[in-house]
Amino acid sequence: MSCKSWCKSALAAALLLLAAAPAWALDRAAIDAAVAARLADAVADLRAWVRIPSITAEGDPHRADKTALLRAVVARAKALGLPARLLPGEQVAVVELGRGGHALGILVHADVVPAGDAARWTHAPFGGELADGAVWGRGSQDDKGPLVASLYAMAALNDAGLPLTRPVRLIVGSSEENMDWRDLDAVRQAGLVPAEGWTADAAFPVIYAEKSYLDVALLFDGPADPALRAFTGGTAVNAVPESAAASLAGDPKALGAALQAAIAAYDGGPQPATFTVTRNPGGVAITARGKAAHGARPQAGINAVTHLARLLYGARTALGIDAASAPGRTVAFIAERLGIETDGATLGLRHTAPGFEPSTVNLGLLVPVGSGLRAQLNVRVPPGLDLAAQQARLTEALLPYQGRLAVVEGKEALWVDPDSPLVRTLLGIYRQFTGDQAEPLAIGGTTYAKAFPNFVAFGMGFPGGPMLAHAENEHLRVDDLRRGMSIYLAALAQLAAGVPVAPSP
Ligand SMILES: [Zn+2]
Repeated sequence: MSCKSWCKSALAAALLLLAAAPAWALDRAAIDAAVAARLADAVADLRAWVRIPSITAEGDPHRADKTALLRAVVARAKALGLPARLLPGEQVAVVELGRGGHALGILVHADVVPAGDAARWTHAPFGGELADGAVWGRGSQDDKGPLVASLYAMAALNDAGLPLTRPVRLIVGSSEENMDWRDLDAVRQAGLVPAEGWTADAAFPVIYAEKSYLDVALLFDGPADPALRAFTGGTAVNAVPESAAASLAGDPKALGAALQAAIAAYDGGPQPATFTVTRNPGGVAITARGKAAHGARPQAGINAVTHLARLLYGARTALGIDAASAPGRTVAFIAERLGIETDGATLGLRHTAPGFEPSTVNLGLLVPVGSGLRAQLNVRVPPGLDLAAQQARLTEALLPYQGRLAVVEGKEALWVDPDSPLVRTLLGIYRQFTGDQAEPLAIGGTTYAKAFPNFVAFGMGFPGGPMLAHAENEHLRVDDLRRGMSIYLAALAQLAAGVPVAPSP
C-alpha cells in the first residue's frame, strides 16, 4: 500500500507533536538503569579481553594479540549496533555513531605493559578472573576497563534513540604504552581526528593541562679517560637514580685520600648523597647512594649520579681526570650545567605557567658508549616553551662540552581552556555523579590526551581508588566500571545529543 495523502498528514501531525514535546531529558535513574542492563555483558567482555596478552614490548612481539583484540572490539561494536572497522595497517579500531562534522572523540588503548613478576600476583595477570567484586589482570584499569566502559556507553546512547547533534567516535589505539603513538597516524590519514574529546586513560575529575614531555640522550664521544675508567648510574630514564658508581685508576692510597678529603668538604645542599670508597689493587671504586623518586618529581629524590659527578668534578685535579676526555667532559657538563638543580634553570629550561609547578629535569641514566658516555634526561615543561625551544637550549648548553643531543621521544604540552564548554560539562557531570566538588587538574605527567588537539583526560580512575596501572595485582572494581559507564553515558548524552542529565526525582 502506497502512502496517500492521509498518511502524509498523519506524519505531519506526528512531527508537530514531536516539535511540541519537551526536549529529550535523561535523569540519573534512566542512566543508571541503562548501565545496569549492560553491566554483565561489559564485565564478560572485559574478562575476555584481559585474557588476550596485547603486550607492548620492544620489537612488538604481541602484534597478533593486539590485532586479535582490536578485531574482537570491532565485532562486539557491530553486535551492539555500532558501525566499526579497523583502519589500514590494522593498528587502530574506530567505532562511530552518527555522521557529520565536529565529531566528539573518545581515545583509549588496547595494549598493556608486561605483567612483571607473575609470582607477585594473587590472580593470574592474564586470567581475567572475577573475584571480590573486581576483574583482575593486566590492563583491567589501563586501559581495557575504560575501553569497555566507553564502548557500552556508546551502545546505550545509541539504544536510547536520542537524535545526535554531532557524531561520536571511539578510537582504540594499540601502541600507547611505549609512548610511540604512531599507530594514530592512520587516524590522521583517514581524516578521522575528532574536533574535541577526551581520553579515558587517566583519572577523574578532568585533566585540562599537562607539561610537555621530552626524553633526550646527551652523547659525549671521544677519548677515554686515563683516570676515570667507569661512571654509571640509574636504571630508568623516568626515575631518579638511587645509586651511581665510578672507578678510578691510579695509586689507591693517593686516590683514596683525595676522595675522602673531597667527601669531607662536599657541599651537597640540604639533601646530599652518601658516598662509599673502596680501595682495590689498581685504584679505587666509589659509590653514591641517593633516593629514588618518579622522574616527574625529581625534587622528591636525591640523584646519586649528579651528586657523584659534582664530587668527582670538585676533586678532578687531584684525581687526575682529563678535562678533554669524553668522561671528563661529561662530568664537567653534569656538574656545571645540571648540578643539584631539578628545574633546569642553568640549562635555560626553567619555565612557569599559572596552575603549574616549574619545569623539571631528571638525569635518569648514565651508561657507557664506546669510550664515551651517554646521559639520558627527562624534561617536563609547562605550556609556553615548546619542544623546539627546549632542544635549542640543550644543544647550546652542550656546545662547550662537545656533547650531542639525540631526541628519543617528545610530546608537546597540553592545554585546553578550563572554562571551555568541554571541560565545564565533563566536570559538572563528574560532580553530579560523585558529589565530589574537585577542581580540574593541571599535571606534570603525560596522558594519551596529548595525541590530539582539544583533548582532555577524563577518568576512569576515581580519586582515592586503587591506582594500579602498571602495578602488580591490577584490578578494576565492577562498581567502578559501572560508575565510569554512567558518567561516560551522561557526558555523551550532553555533548553529542544536547541532552542534559537531570537529577533523579
Ligand atoms: Zn594507559
